[in-house]
Amino acid sequence: MEMMRAQVLQEPMRFELKEVPIPEIGDDEALIKIKYCGICGSDWGSYTGKYADEVACLPLITGHEFCGTIEKLGKNSQGFKIGDRVACDICLPCGVCYQCRVGEPLLCSSFTQLGIHTDGGFAEYVKAPWKNLYLIPDEVNDEKAAFIEPLTACLNASKKMDCHIGRSVVVIGCGLGIIHAALARLRGAAPVILIGDNAERLEMAKQMGIDITINIKEVADPIAEVFKITNGVGADYVLEAVGHSSTYEQAFKMLRKGGKLEAFGICSDDDLMKIPPVQFVLEEKKISGSCAGIGYDWGDVITLLKHGRIDPTPMISMIVPLEDLEDALREIRENPKLIKVLVDPSAKTRTILYKQ
Ligand SMILES: [Zn+2]
Ligand SMILES: [Zn+2]
Repeated sequence: MEMMRAQVLQEPMRFELKEVPIPEIGDDEALIKIKYCGICGSDWGSYTGKYADEVACLPLITGHEFCGTIEKLGKNSQGFKIGDRVACDICLPCGVCYQCRVGEPLLCSSFTQLGIHTDGGFAEYVKAPWKNLYLIPDEVNDEKAAFIEPLTACLNASKKMDCHIGRSVVVIGCGLGIIHAALARLRGAAPVILIGDNAERLEMAKQMGIDITINIKEVADPIAEVFKITNGVGADYVLEAVGHSSTYEQAFKMLRKGGKLEAFGICSDDDLMKIPPVQFVLEEKKISGSCAGIGYDWGDVITLLKHGRIDPTPMISMIVPLEDLEDALREIRENPKLIKVLVDPSAKTRTILYKQ
């Protein structure tokens, strides 16, 4: 049996770097040799055992933000060849539940995702249904390709928020919030305002073309600031990308009458927000939510990357070998300079890309 190196999450708080069999593929699957697998905020949740349904999947090879090359192809596959560079739609909806059949597979009753519920990318190889693969064009390098999955989540939220040209968008949070703000700008929103607490990241966002940044360490009342910028009207759209009731409440207060809140940040289950229902009725404020990217969000993101409409490169902070996964998970939480960290199973040493 051919073996590979993999980081196996044995139980919450314990990864083990092991030799495990290379996955065997079925007729409808492909084997991918991992180039990079990005570390997501949700990987910390998987690691700490925050998600009960995932704990039930352990032991598991986690990691869902991967790109690589096709090593083997099942016999039913079409249009791909060995050696193709690919990204992978990680969603595995059942296809037959009510939500799937009414065309909302993201809300599938038995929704699973590759690398979250089934073995993923913190390994040398991963298998996936060939129909979930998307070819990466030459114009998109491996670093950008590893960023496709988080970009699909942002793009899906952007489609749901559906901001109109010339209208104001506020994004709260300067992790993936930077991408949300960049997408709003791409859609012609104006002004695009990014609120955060990290001066360096806000500066990075400015260099990526974001109109206005508000550092909450310097501005006492960001709600008043948004009203000032929007001539007392409030924001047409606010996207929350922090994941806390306090910022959701702020987001709601910043909205103009008739404005729309797009919910992206994931709060803990017991975190509750307070909204006066009258704001839904007399002020006609709206909320929509978005939890991930799916299907052709992958194709759309690849097109945007290929044509340089969006470039996440400044957000890629470090590349680490497979053995450093557990350390890197902790470091991301402790070092505010780290935004996206990629794991490279073939690397022997770290590559630091952020300004030290
Ligand atoms: Zn993710
Ligand atoms: Zn389903």
